[in-house]
Amino acid sequence: MKDSAPVLEQLRATVAFAYAHVPYYRAQMKRLGLGPDDVTDLDTLRWLPLLNKRQAMHHQRDLAPDRPGADLVPRLSSGTTRDGSQVLLVQTHPDDRRPRPGRVSDEEGGRTLVLPNLHHGPPAPRHDAHVNLPLLPHANAFDQVARLLSRPEDAITRLLGSVTNITALTVWLLDAGVDLTATGVRDIGTNGSLLSAPWRRRLARAWNATLWDNYSLSEIPAVATTCDRCGALHFDDMPVLLELIDPLTEKVAPGPVAELVLTTLLPDVTGFPFLRYRTGDLVELSAARCERGAGFFVLGRAADAVLAMGAAGTEVWLSPRGLLDALDDEPAVDRHPVIHEQRGVVRPGVLGSPRATVVRAGDAVTLRVAVRAPFDEDAAEVAALAARVRSRLLAAHPAQGRATRRGAALHVEVHPAPPAARWRP
Ligand SMILES: [Zn+2]
Repeated sequence: MKDSAPVLEQLRATVAFAYAHVPYYRAQMKRLGLGPDDVTDLDTLRWLPLLNKRQAMHHQRDLAPDRPGADLVPRLSSGTTRDGSQVLLVQTHPDDRRPRPGRVSDEEGGRTLVLPNLHHGPPAPRHDAHVNLPLLPHANAFDQVARLLSRPEDAITRLLGSVTNITALTVWLLDAGVDLTATGVRDIGTNGSLLSAPWRRRLARAWNATLWDNYSLSEIPAVATTCDRCGALHFDDMPVLLELIDPLTEKVAPGPVAELVLTTLLPDVTGFPFLRYRTGDLVELSAARCERGAGFFVLGRAADAVLAMGAAGTEVWLSPRGLLDALDDEPAVDRHPVIHEQRGVVRPGVLGSPRATVVRAGDAVTLRVAVRAPFDEDAAEVAALAARVRSRLLAAHPAQGRATRRGAALHVEVHPAPPAARWRP
């Protein structure tokens, strides 16, 4: 948490600005009997109410500062909060500092090959070697990538793309017999969806490259990027205050696993400052001390996480990332096919998210995992897989400091995968 004196001054300036220029915050603070001088540090910032995405959508006109020269810019949100892919009007001002692009595309030397997300994300920046994958992927696109990677004059040292495209490309190239360590690619940046620890290791080993992640929100002009020192994500494009709350009680959480709450700070964000904005994302605070401040890892949407009871009465979060980490190392687990597999571009059964569902009923939470034949016929193997997955989940993400004990007993059930669903174009 950045709580050094300059950040405190920026926080106080931000609250004073919000009180003077943002009708929503002025009304909230007046309702609570607070003036801008009452917020003197991070503890007193917590007197202000949290703001979630639904509230921000509803009050967006009152969240825009009354400043001359500002422009309301519509931003289409991704819809992963399940509040719909709604347009949020974000006000920008000429005084706002533009965030730097992510580290991977920002470096000098070498070229970046961009494999954009098929359905989501900003337009890819212009690069010398830029392959636009068609909406329905075709092996020809990967042929082009292979040709670009094999030509030394193209000097491609970085790949940037969605998790699905990067993993599909890797499987395709390996199956084609390409030695990826000889391509010169040394950095791989992924976006779009969560990359599990097993896939991270697989990609790093196959390419002999460093993996870079980033984290951003449609509504906040700041990007967190992977730190080359501690490996966690830091917001370093512009000053952002991090808080952690328990997503169920909304109380301040001691960590390490909690929902991320952000406050954007002046002087970088004057167009649309957010105070105590709930990201809806469950994160794990990095235990490593780093000179760049607090670092974190993204575990997925808090709404998709459930509490289970771990050993000795302690609670653990079952998060999307935790489930991926626990299941992506199990080749017997069936997978939802990705479009590259459905189209026959890469062999099926390797990519895609594990076929598993979490069912919470009463005092129990059950993870139902589908495995492929003939693995499902060996009872001892099935029981061992269930025990392995359960112990990995219970060891992964402790929910410390919760006052209530609402975690449910965790059961892992393994059953045969349904007959392969045939995809029709
Ligand atoms: Zn760091």
